[in-house]
This record gives sequence, structure tokens and C-alpha cells, in this order.
Amino acid sequence: MTERHIIYLGLGTNNGDREENLTRAIEELSLALGSCTARSAFIETEPWGFSSDNRFLNCVVAFETEKSPTELLGITEGIERKLGRTTKSGGGIYHDRIIDIDILLYGNESISTERLTIPHPLMHKRDFVLVPLAEIAAAATHPTTGKSIGRLLHELTDEQ
Ligand code: ADP
Ligand code: MG
Repeated sequence: MTERHIIYLGLGTNNGDREENLTRAIEELSLALGSCTARSAFIETEPWGFSSDNRFLNCVVAFETEKSPTELLGITEGIERKLGRTTKSGGGIYHDRIIDIDILLYGNESISTERLTIPHPLMHKRDFVLVPLAEIAAAATHPTTGKSIGRLLHELTDEQ
């Protein structure tokens, strides 16, 4: 029998009707993965890693799925394209985007392939990820550091 995993996805948008973009992305994800088991509030944040006049709207959502990490990436990239995303980031260069869907956590697993790193390698440095993730999963363990999400958020806030 295939195992079910609790997964957390980070969503962001800073172009167009941002609320609509997040809502549509969650609808599309629910069609592909079944209903969302938890959803954070939408929070407005400053662009991270690049400058833009357009602020982001971010949220984190949870699902339970039997899909593999690679299947998941195919699904999230398909939804990004369906919603109209045309540019991908590379080499630390970021752009305004209609929708970005990042796989933050996949159960308790650590995954490292050419196309996929889970936990998402920058999640512990980003308050726009940790704040909404802590809202719905403060006690979840980040598998590579062994720390809880709540603890990672405290450590990030202390650094600032
Ligand atoms: P960013 O989210 O940093 O703006 P993109 O969404 O353009 O960048 O993704 C760049 C690449 O990151 C994708 O082609 C994907 O293969 C890779 N990637 C690695 N790990 C992950 C992950 N955990 N979730 C989503 N994409 C990932
Ligand atoms: Mg992404």
C-alpha cells in the first residue's frame, strides 16, 4: 500500500489579482490532491531577494497525499503554468510572478535530487514561509535540522 504523507506547500504572488491567484491555486491543488487539510491566513510581505514595487501575498497550505515528490512537482509546475506563470527563477535571480508554489515539507523526508530539494533549502531563512507555516504547523519537525517550525521562526526573528 502506498503511504500517505502530510505535505506543506508555500504559495506566493506579486502580480495581478493576488487574492484571486492564491484562491485559484488552492482550488487547482485541491482538484489534484484532494481537499486541503489546513490553510494559513494570506499575509502581505516585501519581495525577498529582489526589488520590486509589487508586494507579495503569501500563504501556506497542507494536504495529505500518496503522490511522490516528483509527481507533486509536476502538479505544482502545471498549475503555475495554467495560472499564467511564464518565467522560472534561476541562479538566485527572482522576478515578479503570478504564482509560485514551493514544496516546503514532504512528511518527515529529506530529498535531494537535481530538480528537487526538500525541505525547501531557503525556508528557514524566510519569514514569509515560517510565519504562515507556524500558524498551521508550529509543532511540525523540520527533518534536516530536527527543530520545530515554531523554534525556527523564533530563531529567525531573534536574528533580525
Ligand atoms: P523560486 O521558487 O526560487 O522563485 P522557481 O519556482 O522558478 O524558483 O523554481 C526554480 C526551481 O526550483 C524549479 O525548477 C524546481 O525544480 C526547483 N526546486 C527545488 N526544490 C524545490 C522545492 N522544494 N519546491 C519547488 N521547487 C523546487
Ligand atoms: Mg518556486
